[in-house]
Amino acid sequence: RIEINNLSKYYGAHKALDNVSLSIEPGTVTVILGPSGSGKSTLLRTINHLERVDEGFIQIDGDYIGYRRKGDTLYELKERAILRQRRHVGYVFQNFNLFPHMTVLDNIIEAPVVHGLMSRKDAIIRAGELLDTVGLREKAHAWPRHLSGGQQQRIAIARALALNPKVMLFDEPTSALDPELVGEVLDVIKKLAQSGVTLVVVTHEIGFARQVADQVVFMVDGRVVESGAAEQVLERPVHARTQAFLEKVL
Ligand code: ATP
Ligand code: MG
Repeated sequence: RIEINNLSKYYGAHKALDNVSLSIEPGTVTVILGPSGSGKSTLLRTINHLERVDEGFIQIDGDYIGYRRKGDTLYELKERAILRQRRHVGYVFQNFNLFPHMTVLDNIIEAPVVHGLMSRKDAIIRAGELLDTVGLREKAHAWPRHLSGGQQQRIAIARALALNPKVMLFDEPTSALDPELVGEVLDVIKKLAQSGVTLVVVTHEIGFARQVADQVVFMVDGRVVESGAAEQVLERPVHARTQAFLEKVL
């Protein structure tokens, strides 16, 4: 379970997150919507402690992310401890970010082998399963640059799954893709949604949200304007800002 509690984050004087609170139940899909600059990426990055927070905190299964609590004070964890926490949280970016100088297989086994979590042999077996999950077993020995954008993104998903994360964060995973490649990536994410991993997805794909989201969160100017059951927020939004946004993206 992810608890986001009164979270605020500043960039200089600009408040990118303004008192955000959210609960995310294990095994559910949360879709985050909002106009450009509303703080969606910043929120995802704080869940992985890629950004420090200025107020509030995030807990995953009771652990403070990026911090350790002593009395009433939160102290930032050391790099090693932060890296250990990040293993439980997979991150998929808009632009795939595969290691260009490594084959698909090496991209996938890199993290578990480097972290000493698996032998190379076991990591290769696991990579094969993950390649099956994303439907790309035959690309194990290909170079990233020889794959389509949709294939690269599916490999990026397999790579993120290699550490068996409890949570997968997706930041506009299909927005850099040609329209005809969007479906294959969304299909993989839908499959994950059924597998029990907790998913948090920033996307403008409302059709996808309708099909798989349990919870929808709508943000503007760093604040959560509206959140709740997907059906309610998407079909019967209460807030005028949410209504206007949904009319525009449909
Ligand atoms: P988009 O839909 O365009 O991806 P977003 O909702 O993901 O937008 P964020 O990237 O989280 O928005 O940015 C929120 C605000 O914080 C924006 O005003 C942005 O300009 C600002 N911001 C984000 N990252 C930084 C940074 N590293 N330094 C300064 N300001 C930043
Ligand atoms: Mg963003």
